[in-house]
Amino acid sequence: MKKPIALLALLLGASLLASAADAKKLLVVTVTKGFRHSSIGTAEKVLGKLAGDEKAGFTVDYARTDDELASKMSASALKQYDGFIFANTTGILPLPDKQAFLNEVKNGKAFIGMHSASDTFHGPSGVDPYIEMLGGEFATHHAQAGVECLVQDGRHPAAKGLGEAYCIEQEEIYLLKNYNADGNVHELLVLDKHPNNKKKLGHFPIAWCKEYGKGKVFYTSLGHREDVWENQRYQRHILGGIRWALGLEPGDATPQAKPLSPIAPK
Ligand SMILES: [Zn+2]
Repeated sequence: MKKPIALLALLLGASLLASAADAKKLLVVTVTKGFRHSSIGTAEKVLGKLAGDEKAGFTVDYARTDDELASKMSASALKQYDGFIFANTTGILPLPDKQAFLNEVKNGKAFIGMHSASDTFHGPSGVDPYIEMLGGEFATHHAQAGVECLVQDGRHPAAKGLGEAYCIEQEEIYLLKNYNADGNVHELLVLDKHPNNKKKLGHFPIAWCKEYGKGKVFYTSLGHREDVWENQRYQRHILGGIRWALGLEPGDATPQAKPLSPIAPK
């Protein structure tokens, strides 16, 4: 090999190594202890595909079983990750050290939750510290419905490119409780009508971001159906949210949540 070519190859190799080394490392958790969504396989594939794009700036590892949770989320193992995605988790997850996990986020890591991430760690009463970190808790849902999610901050990476509204033909829409418990929620997508009774006007949050100590949290209640996960707009929504939470893209997180409307359908 001639010298200039060898040098070029060396530089190229070094820059590839550098970009791989710079990529943020996310742990995707898909363990369930309650309802198990059939979309979990699709969710894992979509997140892998998004991370597979070199420009995404992050890689993903998975915790799919109790054993993987035990080994990848111990107090010391947590430290190797820059953030955590709970993709359609449910129930009381057997985290080896839940407080250490919450502390990691509070000390500056990313947390991203999709759909039933808010149906995880239901406290029997009061607000679980995980729910306080997340910003809201699943209360109930009714029949799947078509909705028009109104964009509240079109400059935020998780809402950029969605226009004024993100319309979904059919999805299971969550109604929430214990919303904005620490007062830090910055709303990104909301409904101004009850999802199952469009005559009933109100305030029904769908997606938000917030700060949790030095950490950044992004949650979207969308993601029940396979075809929602496969939709380009949904993928843009979550990719923006992931990149924001990892600090790869700037976006406002000024608290500005409105109170929830009553969840009764009629
Ligand atoms: Zn669901």
